[in-house]
Amino acid sequence: MKERLQALQQEALNKVEEATTLDELQTIRVSYLGKKGPITEVLRGMGKLSPEERPVIGELANKVREVIANQLDHKKADLEAQALEKKLETEKIDVTLPGRPVSVGGAHLLTSIVEEIEDLFIGMGFEVREGPEVETDYYNFEALNLPKDHPARDMQDSFYITEELLMRTHTSPVQARTMNEYKGNKPVKMICPGKVYRRDTDDATHSHQFTQVEGLYVDKDVRMSDLKGVLNQFAKQFFGEEREIRLRPSFFPFTEPSVEMDISCKVCHGKGCSVCKQTGWIEILGGGMVHPRVLEMAGYDPSVYSGFAFGMGPERIAMLKYGVDDIRHFYTNDVRFLKQYHKA
Ligand SMILES: [Zn+2]
Repeated sequence: MKERLQALQQEALNKVEEATTLDELQTIRVSYLGKKGPITEVLRGMGKLSPEERPVIGELANKVREVIANQLDHKKADLEAQALEKKLETEKIDVTLPGRPVSVGGAHLLTSIVEEIEDLFIGMGFEVREGPEVETDYYNFEALNLPKDHPARDMQDSFYITEELLMRTHTSPVQARTMNEYKGNKPVKMICPGKVYRRDTDDATHSHQFTQVEGLYVDKDVRMSDLKGVLNQFAKQFFGEEREIRLRPSFFPFTEPSVEMDISCKVCHGKGCSVCKQTGWIEILGGGMVHPRVLEMAGYDPSVYSGFAFGMGPERIAMLKYGVDDIRHFYTNDVRFLKQYHKA
């Protein structure tokens, strides 16, 4: 019996040595160590042995099992390592392939223009204020000297939610709201950027929704020359030191006197060309001295306080600064257009 076990061990070890695949190893494992294997069979026959022999043979059988099992594990690890080696040799990663491009986002052109305007005016001591886009008739019109029957309302037809509630047609109500909040006894120096709405038919220069930045400065002794100084500063910083400005008389119900500001044409420097329609000037924004009635309605005494206000369209500013030819480019979100203005 002892010889039989030793012979089995040698036989099994030889087979393990010769095995070349993991499957073969598994077959050897089952046939020698399984319940129907020869070693189990030997152990079954132990009943025939003398009591002295039994523990000796039992121990030997267990030892044989252990030796075979160890050798199987050993070989298995070897074969697995070989397989990995082979895999590493055959499967190569080609690191010369170009990587997938990572697309980086950036601020929308209008957002960066508005932020640029904000920075400039903050530098001149203005604070940035915001207000609701759904506005009352009172703040949108009446508080700005546009009573219900005023003909100038026709220029600013809006989208009405109720008789008294509408989508604001300009950001001026934020000025009225701020003056009310300051209760007529402290200076106001603010700009209000934001979205506004008008019932316009969309074309290359009109949109039913667009952006405005308006400014207001109310204090004692604010003069027209202050307005001119601030606007001149804006024009030069935004469009270039060499640009000249001029003010032309205009009309707005909430300012008196009212002006339109032009800057000298960048292309012809005032001589006249197709860009400026041969005038040498390009219209940029409107403004004026705050109408005494507007001050009064907001609780400021017009005999003590005076002020100026102005308003501009960031779309127009961006179109002039970057030569954008259609206002709709700002809203259709064509990445090919937007990407050109992403700052690195
Ligand atoms: Zn020109």
